[in-house]
Amino acid sequence: MPNLEILNLNKNYKDVVACHNINLNIDLGEIVCLIGESGCGKSTLLKLISGFEYADSGDIILNERKIVGDKTFVKPEDRNISILFQEHSLFPHLTIKENLELALKGNINDKSKYQELLSISNINELESRYPHQISGGQQQRVALMRTLLLKPDLILLDEPFSNLDENTKNNLRTYFRKVLKDSKLTTILVTHDTQDAAILADRILVMKEGKIISDNNYNILYTKPNNEYVSKLFKNINVLKPDPFGIKHNSLIGIFPYSIKLNEGNLKANVVLSTPHYDKHHITLELEDQLFFTITDENIPLETEVNFSVDIDSVIYY
Ligand code: ADP
Ligand code: MG
Repeated sequence: MPNLEILNLNKNYKDVVACHNINLNIDLGEIVCLIGESGCGKSTLLKLISGFEYADSGDIILNERKIVGDKTFVKPEDRNISILFQEHSLFPHLTIKENLELALKGNINDKSKYQELLSISNINELESRYPHQISGGQQQRVALMRTLLLKPDLILLDEPFSNLDENTKNNLRTYFRKVLKDSKLTTILVTHDTQDAAILADRILVMKEGKIISDNNYNILYTKPNNEYVSKLFKNINVLKPDPFGIKHNSLIGIFPYSIKLNEGNLKANVVLSTPHYDKHHITLELEDQLFFTITDENIPLETEVNFSVDIDSVIYY
């Protein structure tokens, strides 16, 4: 029995199809990431689950209780779902301690859990401060801690890391993953950042025009992207017209950067950009108005014409 079950869920805004026939099962303790371009329906799906929007049709069952259905609409406050946004998750006029106490309905009855969470969140010394007196990363730790104290049946995270710098983001992602997994809480994370998905998600749902078009783990999406849209989201493969590469195919192809072998073969391209990439170089090449990239050990000066070949066996045909 899944923890969250969504059956044939639909939502239109006039002529815009925001969610089309969504079917989805999520198990207890699973972390699922919802990813897709802006406007594809991610927030609408979260609103339907949390009850901030009415579905046109379909059912949602959470923890064996129907919360959305033909004649059912459980109010948002009665669904036991917690939502954490990118900011403004804490009450600004309350201290950190007061914010957390609120989650415990005024009395810290679960004191040992509270102390344990305080110390693993690295926020023990911040209890007396107000939200504006701590950093964005610390605010998100407190917000997650508050969510855990609420013991929800489902956690919805809407771009929780998007306003933070790279270092803080990476620390927080790892921290969130560990804490959510330890707590065995079912989580849906909405993001446009594939790194969020890489670090946090057990499963990644790709949404396009209101539909879930792919349900896979990160490794599969990254190494065997089955369509152009997924490839463009992950930006790990060059999506190109085939002809200039001497490949016959009536649609687009995908060429991984490691499949481009420089200084061999008959193809020629110009170097238009070179940027450092860890201890290597990220080189952008141009061939017949198409840009594509590869990773090299040696830097190559701009405007150099290079020879290359493509490892045909690893080409993806869309
Ligand atoms: P995402 O979160 O993936 O960016 P949304 O769920 O916000 O996408 O939006 C999906 C589609 O529904 C978009 O085309 C958007 O313009 C439309 N939409 C969302 N909310 C409303 C609304 N309240 N009224 C009309 N159209 C809306
Ligand atoms: Mg959105």
